[in-house]
Amino acid sequence: MKKKNDIPYGNYEKVLMHICCAPDATYPLFYLRGRHYKVTGFFYNPNVHPITEYEKRVFEVQKFANVVKMPLVLGNYDIKEWFEYIKGLEKEPEGGKRCCLCYEFRLRKTAELAKELHFDYFTTTLSISPHKNSKWIFEIAKSLEEEYGVKFLYADFKKRNGFKSSVILSRYFNMYRQNYCGCVFSKIEAENWRTLHQKTEKSQ
Ligand code: SF4
Repeated sequence: MKKKNDIPYGNYEKVLMHICCAPDATYPLFYLRGRHYKVTGFFYNPNVHPITEYEKRVFEVQKFANVVKMPLVLGNYDIKEWFEYIKGLEKEPEGGKRCCLCYEFRLRKTAELAKELHFDYFTTTLSISPHKNSKWIFEIAKSLEEEYGVKFLYADFKKRNGFKSSVILSRYFNMYRQNYCGCVFSKIEAENWRTLHQKTEKSQ
């Protein structure tokens, strides 16, 4: 029976799934496989800072892909292009306009690759995070569908307890789970928040 927010069953069509990090790829992969899609992962996240953190995330996603036998494509670390793309929005808070461009930057490359490699669909694990705006993701995807002529699979992975399931699965796979979104600005924001939180706790 089709539940609310489910995507339709496929017929083993090929999906290029943009992966933001290994923990966020767990539930989406099993969900899409369960709905009869053939998934290839695409790790493309030049937003992640610093390079050591980027490498950690790459390592985790490769480890996961090997265990679950998911074909995986690694994108380039186009950090200069990413900074250029979000220029002028450095001071935006997480969840603000910079994030919208950051989603677009990564989804554009996914759509481009999906077209080049003749995938039936592209999609993204970004929608699993409660901090990510699925409405924006879907709006961006819609315009990219038109631009590139590849269909987007409109899966809002955070629904049906998707996020909770990904936390459980990432523990099961013993994965490294980062404590900030990815870019240098989100790292500083998270560190400031932790410092403030510690100070408040000490003063109580
Ligand atoms: S906070 Fe996350 S989504 Fe927003 S710009 Fe930074 S890395 Fe991208």
